Amino acid sequence: MTTTVRDVVAVARGLADDVLFPGAMRVDGLDAIPAAHFDALAAAGLYGAPVPAEAGGLGLDLAASCAVVEELASGCLATTFVWMQHRGLVMTLAAEGTPAVLRDRWLGPACRGQVRGAIALGGLLPGPPRLRARPSGDGWRLDGEAPWVTGWGLTDLLLVAARGPGDSIVSLILDAAAQPGLAVTRERLAAVNASATVRLGFDGVLVPGERRAGQAPFDPAESMRPDRLRINGSLALGLVLRCVRMLGPGPLDDELAACRKQLDDALVTGFDAMAQARAAASELAVRAAAALAVQVGSRSVSVDQHAQRLVREAMFLLVFGSRPGIKNALLRRLGAIEG
Ligand SMILES: Cc1cc2nc3c(=O)[nH]c(=O)nc-3n(C[C@H](O)[C@H](O)[C@H](O)COP(=O)(O)OP(=O)(O)OC[C@H]3O[C@@H](n4cnc5c(N)ncnc54)[C@H](O)[C@@H]3O)c2cc1C
Repeated sequence: MTTTVRDVVAVARGLADDVLFPGAMRVDGLDAIPAAHFDALAAAGLYGAPVPAEAGGLGLDLAASCAVVEELASGCLATTFVWMQHRGLVMTLAAEGTPAVLRDRWLGPACRGQVRGAIALGGLLPGPPRLRARPSGDGWRLDGEAPWVTGWGLTDLLLVAARGPGDSIVSLILDAAAQPGLAVTRERLAAVNASATVRLGFDGVLVPGERRAGQAPFDPAESMRPDRLRINGSLALGLVLRCVRMLGPGPLDDELAACRKQLDDALVTGFDAMAQARAAASELAVRAAAALAVQVGSRSVSVDQHAQRLVREAMFLLVFGSRPGIKNALLRRLGAIEG
C-alpha cells in the first residue's frame, strides 16, 4: 500500500494531538525534551521526511514538509524545533555530492531516527568569519563559535558549516559530544528551553578528513533563497493553528489560511515577498497567542496555562531564523519603524 502525503500529514496531526500537545506544558518546564517524543516521530518515519523513498525516506517535497511541520508545531513547538534541525543533516547525507562513505554509514540510520542531527551554521553568518575550518594534517581544524546550537545532548551528530580556504563553506559532520577544544555553554531560554540550546566555542577542534561532507564557494545569497526560508514560517503557522483551535471559530482562521498562502506564493515571487510573508506569520503568531490569553482571562498568566506558554513561544518566533529583511518587515508591522 502506498503512503500518500495526506496519510503522512494525518499521522503528524495524530502525533501532535495525542502525544505532543498533551505533554507540551510538562515539556515547557523541563531542561530537555523526553526521548519518547522523538521516538514517536522516528516510529512514524518523520526523521526521513525529505529523503527520497528509494533512499529510505518518505520523499516529502517542501510543501508536504511544511504541512508536517505546521501540524507538529501545533502540538509542541520545542519538540518540533529540535526535530527540524535533523532536516539539515539528513538532506546533506542524501545529497548527490556527499561522499559515499558518509552516506553509507549514516543515511539509513538517520532516516530511521536512530541517529539524530543538530546543526551549527556559524560559518554562514554574514560579515567576517565567526567559525573557520583550516586544513590540518589529513583533516580539518575548527576555530571560532557557533552562537546557537539546538538539541545538545539530544542528538548524535552535528553538521557544521564553517568558512574554509578561498572563501568557501566547508561542511563537516562531527560527533555531537564533548571533545578536546570544544566549549559548550547552555543557554537558558524563556521559551522552548527544553530544546537544550547551547553556544559552542571551537578552539582547535580536530575533525578527520573523511568527515567532510562537502565544500562550496561561500555565497551569502544562498541563505536568502525563499525555499530555504519557507519552512521556518510553518513553525509560526503551527502555533497559530493551536491558538485558533483553542479560541474556536473566528476571523483568525481566515488569517491563518491567508498567511499560509502568502508564504507559499512567496516561493515563486522572491526574497522580499518571503521576508514579508515570514514577518506576517510571526506577527500573526503574536496576535493569536495574545488573543488566546485575553480570551482565557487572568488565568492565562498562571504557569500551568497554555496561553502564557504560547505567548512566550510567539516571542521566540519573532527572532528565530531571522534575516535583516524579515526583521525590518517585522519592525515596520509592529510600528517601530516607518515605511
Ligand atoms: C533559541 C534559538 C535556537 C537556535 N538554534 C540554532 C541552531 O541549532 N543552529 C543554528 O545554526 N542556528 C540556530 N539559531 C540561530 C538562528 O538560525 C538565527 O541565526 C537567529 O535566530 C538570527 O538571530 P538574529 O537576527 O539575532 O541574528 P544573529 O544571530 O545575531 O546573526 C547576525 C546576522 O546573521 C543573519 N543570519 C543568521 N543566521 C543566518 C544564516 N544561517 N545564514 C545567513 N544569515 C544568517 C541574521 O539575519 C543577522 O542579520 C537559533 C536561534 C535561537 C534564538
